Amino acid sequence: MSTKVTITSRADCAALDEQDPLGVLRGRFELPEGVIYLDGNSLGARPRASLARAHEVVAMEWGQDLIKSWNTAGWFALPKRLGDRLAPIVGARPGEVVVTDTTSLNLFKALAAALEIQRQKAPERKVIVTERSNFPTDIYMADGLARWLDRGYAIRLVDSVEELPSAVDADCAVLMLTHVNYRTGWQHDMAALTRHAHEAGALALWDLAHSAGAVPLDLHGADADFAVGCTYKYLNGGPGAPAFIWVPEKHQAAFSHPLTGWWSHAAPFAMSHGFTAADGIGRALCGTQPVVSLAMVECGLEVFEETDMQAIRTKSLALTDLFIALVEARCKAHPLGLVTPREHAQRGSQVSFTHPHGYAVMQALIERGVIGDYREPEIMRFGFTPLYTSFADVWDAVEILRDILDSGGYDANAARSAVT
Ligand SMILES: *Cc1c(COP(=O)(O)O)cnc(C)c1O
Repeated sequence: MSTKVTITSRADCAALDEQDPLGVLRGRFELPEGVIYLDGNSLGARPRASLARAHEVVAMEWGQDLIKSWNTAGWFALPKRLGDRLAPIVGARPGEVVVTDTTSLNLFKALAAALEIQRQKAPERKVIVTERSNFPTDIYMADGLARWLDRGYAIRLVDSVEELPSAVDADCAVLMLTHVNYRTGWQHDMAALTRHAHEAGALALWDLAHSAGAVPLDLHGADADFAVGCTYKYLNGGPGAPAFIWVPEKHQAAFSHPLTGWWSHAAPFAMSHGFTAADGIGRALCGTQPVVSLAMVECGLEVFEETDMQAIRTKSLALTDLFIALVEARCKAHPLGLVTPREHAQRGSQVSFTHPHGYAVMQALIERGVIGDYREPEIMRFGFTPLYTSFADVWDAVEILRDILDSGGYDANAARSAVT
């Protein structure tokens, strides 16, 4: 599979699909007729298995076995069991990941733990370094934590990748970055930036929301300190499915955070008065989890066990290369600007183009069955999920985009929906 050959027809794309080793996995997903789904980076498609699994959880485990299911159906152990199943996708080890809470909450816990570790060791370090272009919730959570701690913490927002190294200085406690940028699709060099943070005396916390299931990850290889991420994007866990948090063994004993709910207690059912943190990754939990939603995460993870991240990455790059090449060749009369890096090492699994009427054009695309999304300012975002996106889908999506642009078939004054 190589996109170095020039693709000039839909038949060329169909030929690539014929040779695609991942092609068979499309059948693991339920996708509506007539839809080309390029938004798996925001809400992954539904694994077929999830419907039967939801029925089992609701009708049998809840309906028939009621409260016994906390033990008999393994509900209580689910965050850890799913964490162990997710671990290989991010380069973690068993006992280092739990699936729980939201990405925002997990980031809060990991950041609190990182700040506390630093406070014990280097209390003069008061700065959290991140990017202004980070996903806003990450900055909001860091800001909220810093204000509530009221210990003089500050957030240093960096405007370009080039400025990052010098921003991580003797004041920096934590370098907190999102590995693949949600808007541009830029992918950081996790190993290099983590190494730089460590050399400067800082800890490195990574948000993998747009990386897990999208690009190969090696948290141990990069010697990262903490990581969090989503399961409802590339991991296909379902809308609002619980997120994950990775605490490597090296930091587990020192891992402490303010959300000390009973699930993070050493003996939750002892109902004792004082709090004693659980050993190991259990201390990253807080309270009771949405079991129905949590159970769906497993159906997404099962699909990944049929392949590996290298195969996914190979196809992802072929899909995004093809999309970029086709848009630039076939829509060249239009004011589209590529925002995503052409360099493979710097690209996640999405492609973003600006257009002065980006929102309206995206609405017209969705109307015609090509579902991507829109992010301020002017950015049309297309996510490529190799598990269920074909090369012919890429061809068809570009042809529909070309038709909309050539015909001016979009409403430049389209009103914004609440969710864009
Ligand atoms: C999608 C995303 C989130 C989502 O956070 P929630 O708490 O699940 O709403 C957080 N951070 C990044 C970088 C994201 O891309």
